[in-house]
Amino acid sequence: MIKGQNTIGFQLSALGNESIKAIRVDNQQELEGEFISATSEEINLAVEKSVKAFDVYSKISGVKRAEFLEAIAGEIEALESKLIDRAMLESGLPQGRLEGERGRTCGQLRAFAALLREGSWVDAKIETAIPDRTPIPKPDLRKINTAIGPVVVFTASNFPLAFSTAGGDTASALASGCTVIVKAHESHLGTNSLVAGAIVSAAKKTNMPEGVFSSLNSKDYSVGTALVMHPSIKAVGFTGSIKGGKALYDLAQTRKEPIPVYAEMGSVNPVLLMPSKLKDNAKDLAATYSNSITMGVGQFCTNPGIIIGVQSDSLNEFAKELASNMAKVKGSCMLNKGISDNFDSNSTKILSSSTVEVLHKSSEVSYDNKGSILAKINASDFLANKDMSDEVFGPFSMIVSCKNIEEMQKVVASLEGQLTVTIMANKNDYTENSSLIYSAQKIAGRVIYNGTPTGVEVCRAMHHGGTFPSSTNGKYTSVGQDAIYRFVRPVAFQNSPEQFLPEELKNGNPLKIMRIVNGKYSNSSI
Ligand code: NAP
Repeated sequence: MIKGQNTIGFQLSALGNESIKAIRVDNQQELEGEFISATSEEINLAVEKSVKAFDVYSKISGVKRAEFLEAIAGEIEALESKLIDRAMLESGLPQGRLEGERGRTCGQLRAFAALLREGSWVDAKIETAIPDRTPIPKPDLRKINTAIGPVVVFTASNFPLAFSTAGGDTASALASGCTVIVKAHESHLGTNSLVAGAIVSAAKKTNMPEGVFSSLNSKDYSVGTALVMHPSIKAVGFTGSIKGGKALYDLAQTRKEPIPVYAEMGSVNPVLLMPSKLKDNAKDLAATYSNSITMGVGQFCTNPGIIIGVQSDSLNEFAKELASNMAKVKGSCMLNKGISDNFDSNSTKILSSSTVEVLHKSSEVSYDNKGSILAKINASDFLANKDMSDEVFGPFSMIVSCKNIEEMQKVVASLEGQLTVTIMANKNDYTENSSLIYSAQKIAGRVIYNGTPTGVEVCRAMHHGGTFPSSTNGKYTSVGQDAIYRFVRPVAFQNSPEQFLPEELKNGNPLKIMRIVNGKYSNSSI
């Protein structure tokens, strides 16, 4: 049974009297579980437990933390259809998608476990002393990444599993040795409650300290705000809107001790249709992009919101085919009514401009059956109105028609930081328009050639984060194992006695990890 209390360490708690309803998204009916918004007392208790647990958990070996992460994956899988059924009701996402997401969530947890077992992620660097160096002796210096402290994770509405309670932010923070407090998303409170239970169960089975994980419900922004402002919280992970992410970022900077807020926010993920590629493949490109724009009702941060090309018969053919393909895709339920309302108002704002031509607008407009929209605008009008490059989260895309390559270059240069940029090009384009391709590479965290931005591989080489406003810190990724680096800080030990060094920096290299010793990679002892 889904109870709906807050999870504070190993305890369930419901001290407050403000309840939040869990909603079945397709018919707006109330679902099982009475979810109680956390009180100040509960927020403080969760942080207190998190701080206490951090002292123990951050010192636990990587192998033990790996066992914990693997146990979380096992506990999530053990929830079987109960989890998928609840997530389907709360998110409106189909069974196949959620099963895939569960696989990704557990895969991420296991990938971080593998990273911890291998060990070299700590970036151990050792420079041994040269006492007789002149004019001054060189000290012994050893550097390593250590966990930053208790972390708050704001779960994402559009990935109820993979970017939520046990998703990438939580998995990477726990892997780094940080303790985690989740602010549950209002859109999937029951799903959150089930996964929180799985994490607690895994923590108990693997003897993790109480407080390593907590999860709090909130009726409004108050709980999230209090968590971000709590002096003992050391970092924040967030996925959602630019407005929300920036508000939390700004809030964190007003603290006596400002802290990092790693917010993955919005992006229009521009796609460049290079002339030669477009001429040879207009029809195929239209089929590929119809699929990418409408997949998951367009509710991906990597949805291709702007498609840029040079005006030509081929661009006209592409536009016509894309509109016709999109019209064949049936509407589907959006993640919540708020997201549907935002889609309506943001798309209306763009379509109401007299410079915008509507190429396709589905008649399926209700929140539980939302169809797609395709618009077109001339580059000069696009460049004259900054609002035209705003994200419309959902199944929306706009073709920007340029007079020539120079104008295409101007459109690209006008865009703000993006998660992705996609270049659809062939060998002729590579030769004829290389400077446009090079300049496009500058605006995004991931550059895709001849593919689609949707579908984000979880691996060591992934970078999911771009310059502002796509994320608050483009240096870091929120997908893939490198996401762990958001939640660590380097510490250098100078002339440290061996006994006070972390295992990873000891002369004998007891964990046999790869380190940089006096400028050379080595997994040997010193
Ligand atoms: P959101 O409004 O940014 O909210 C995300 C989370 O942050 C929620 O838990 C929300 O709390 C909290 N929050 C937002 N603003 C806050 C503030 N000022 N102070 C404290 N907490 C705050 O995102 P959403 O609800 O998931 O979706 C709304 C819109 O975000 C969508 O229409 C879409 O445009 C965008 N979005 C973008 C992405 C992406 O990947 N780029 C993903 C999802 C959504 P509450 O639960 O209390 O509201």
